[in-house]
Amino acid sequence: MSAPFAPPLNAPGPEAQLQVLREVFGYREFRLQQGDVIAHASGGGSALVLMPTGGGKSLCYQVPAIARHRAGLGVTLVVSPLIALMHDQVEALREAGVAAAGLTSALDGDAARQIERDWVSGRLTLLYAAPERVTQPRFLAMLDALQGRGQLSLIAIDEAHCVSQWGHDFREHYLQLSLLHERYPAVPRLALTATADQHTRQDIVQRLDLQDARLFISSFDRPNIFYTVVDKDKPRQQLLDFLRSQPIGDSGIVYCQSRKSVEQVAAFLVQEGFDALPYHAGLDAAVRQTHQNRFLREDAVIMVATIAFGMGIDKPDVRFVAHLDLPRSIESYYQETGRAGRDGAPARAWMCVGAGDVMQQRRMIEASPADDTFKRLQGRKLDALLALTEAHDCRRVHLLDYFGEASRPCGHCDNCVSPPQTWDATRATQQALSTVYRLARHGENGFAPTAFGATHLIDVLQGKASEKVREYGHERLSTFGIGKDIDAMQWRQVVRHALARHLLRAEGDWGALALDDGARPVLRGEQAVHLRVLEPRRAVRSPTFKQERSRRASTLDTSDWSSGDIARWDALRAWRSEVARQHDVPV
Ligand code: ADP
Ligand code: MG
Ligand code: ZN
Repeated sequence: MSAPFAPPLNAPGPEAQLQVLREVFGYREFRLQQGDVIAHASGGGSALVLMPTGGGKSLCYQVPAIARHRAGLGVTLVVSPLIALMHDQVEALREAGVAAAGLTSALDGDAARQIERDWVSGRLTLLYAAPERVTQPRFLAMLDALQGRGQLSLIAIDEAHCVSQWGHDFREHYLQLSLLHERYPAVPRLALTATADQHTRQDIVQRLDLQDARLFISSFDRPNIFYTVVDKDKPRQQLLDFLRSQPIGDSGIVYCQSRKSVEQVAAFLVQEGFDALPYHAGLDAAVRQTHQNRFLREDAVIMVATIAFGMGIDKPDVRFVAHLDLPRSIESYYQETGRAGRDGAPARAWMCVGAGDVMQQRRMIEASPADDTFKRLQGRKLDALLALTEAHDCRRVHLLDYFGEASRPCGHCDNCVSPPQTWDATRATQQALSTVYRLARHGENGFAPTAFGATHLIDVLQGKASEKVREYGHERLSTFGIGKDIDAMQWRQVVRHALARHLLRAEGDWGALALDDGARPVLRGEQAVHLRVLEPRRAVRSPTFKQERSRRASTLDTSDWSSGDIARWDALRAWRSEVARQHDVPV
């Protein structure tokens, strides 16, 4: 991908770069690939930089921008998608004595014109602006003027994944950034992002014309995040158990799919004694702002939110991110969980997944106005995420593999800490599949066959003579009651797995079940199904939880825990202190 490239003689060298790092930012050393990226960009090279959240992408363009400005090479434009992001960075730069500004809609006319004058005159080292503004004629005219004097030094495009429709957070105006390389082909460009799978990466390269740019990929591993995925049973209760197993005083984010569930879950948590706040795009802007500020500034606030909350939230000590519903893809999951533990101290990613989630995500893809290629790709992305949630081995290996990174079992995810026991669910799956087949055939009394959802299927399998079963005469099906010895939770697990692996598909708003392409080999016994043995849900009960919380005690009532629970908890604690020791942070 990279072309041989020699920096021009007037470009700032390694000493100048280190000097900026130490004098302006007060850091001793470069992190991850910062040093390489900065050397390359300072010399005038273009690059696509993939670095995990919290890795330090900002310095990758800020250091070259400052070093090149000092060397008389001109000013840097930073394209950024959010005012909040710009604001934080500009503030930090100014505090460090760097002439930086953000040209945003938040400014009044006079202030904006002053910034424009400073920028065109070359007094500002860095200017931040949103893509919508950058592509306006007025802004382009300023860039032309700078370029005409050889004073346009560098263009940085932050959150570059916004250019790709394949990724998450697509922003239409990012597409128009192609104007920049068409107009200023000789100006080096840096595109930076924290998430991009192979597809999104190619898309960024193509749309931002980075074919000749160097690609820098830092490890995507977030070693201080502990990953857990559980089977959805009673989600709120499960969430509560999870929250109660976290040290008191931790703050975190709980993601829900819909605005309505955000409101309900937030209210539920408040009732249970947590300091929980709702956040979604349907709330008043002022309310959103207040909630966000409280989350950022206070301890122990739990933000219950849709994905509207997140990008640009730079709170280093988010201790957990919980998903009550399934995200859209591994990229989204990685991005959302990546908001935890940016300070390097131990943090947890917890997710709860059920059959309904799989159906709903598939329905959303189906119902989207996108073309078929797009839907197919979204479907594949969802399947990759489902494989991660169904996995019996290391979650981190799956996660990193998705980003093209090979790794070994990590020792600190749920599956590594307690490798799941599995049961052979091949026969049960066959029973479920053939019952779905029979249900679809069984037209009673001359009526056409009707399609049925998961609840009905499970009633039939368990031999429950529900009203609907009697109405349709399904107690006469040959498979009625063949699965009595398997409980409903396990049947839901079988159905969820069958949906995830395309043995079954769910159609229409009702989630009517039908056999899918993958069913045949399982029915024929050519493919086996192994599922995790479900452990009985054991509430992390602490009867005096509310009082305990107010006393800020951090002990848990473990009296009804099994030895397995205790072993897991101990492993988690040991791991916490190990990570804390490595990162030199308090637990
Ligand atoms: P990203 O944009 O990749 O998510 P940021 O650029 O916001 O990450 O940086 C995350 C944090 O890491 C910031 O607080 C930043 O000051 C800090 N940081 C960046 N580079 C270094 C470094 N070389 N040494 C120490 N801290 C750093
Ligand atoms: Mg950033
Ligand atoms: Zn692991």
